[in-house]
Amino acid sequence: MDDLVALRDKVAISCNILAIEGHWDNILGHVSARVPGENAMLMKPHSYGFEEIRPYHIIKVDFDGNKIEGDYERHSEVFIHTEIYKARPDVNCVIHSHPPYATAFGSLRQPLRPVSHEGSIFHDGLPLFDYTTVLIRTAELGVKVAEKLEGARAVLMKNHGTTVVAESVETATLYAIFLEKACRIQLLASASGNPSWSSDEEAREKYDQIYTPHRLGSMWDYFVRRAKRLAID
Ligand SMILES: [Zn+2]
Repeated sequence: MDDLVALRDKVAISCNILAIEGHWDNILGHVSARVPGENAMLMKPHSYGFEEIRPYHIIKVDFDGNKIEGDYERHSEVFIHTEIYKARPDVNCVIHSHPPYATAFGSLRQPLRPVSHEGSIFHDGLPLFDYTTVLIRTAELGVKVAEKLEGARAVLMKNHGTTVVAESVETATLYAIFLEKACRIQLLASASGNPSWSSDEEAREKYDQIYTPHRLGSMWDYFVRRAKRLAID
């Protein structure tokens, strides 16, 4: 039970962090976390912006997409989350949002290169979901997203946004921030000329240097402190 309270707190602060770090989009976008040992997840509700979310807003939803706990409305794109959790037992957090640079980048059909450090996170694969650009409001479409994601850390969704996954809320939140930055840097560099990027070998070495569990832990702690310092209300 204590673990669930802590998980709820973590989903809420992840939303607050994403609001500040480039993922704000009105009341759209959602974070979820798998409830250990259950076919269910904790999830941000509809009708509130990322920065407004507090632990009491978080709802519980089963893997059929039914809300089973909580006072607030469920997002219609819940099936992105349910179908990824079913397909990827290693994934414990799913973040779907509409960050501007990654969304623009996804429309270009270009591979993401390790132009900046952050690009090395997605160096081994960043698929593009282009089956449809409409909202993912059915389990069938959720399955299509999960199939395109396959074993990757994220999937670009053409003319829509991004979905990022990881084994923890902390890592998924950081990867979501860094995917947006990697896309922004490549767009900036491409708009100004012909960018260079790290070799495959260096990209892998950089990933191992920078994104260790210890460093990711410190980065998460920093983003939590920053979100609390910059809180809007
Ligand atoms: Zn969406």
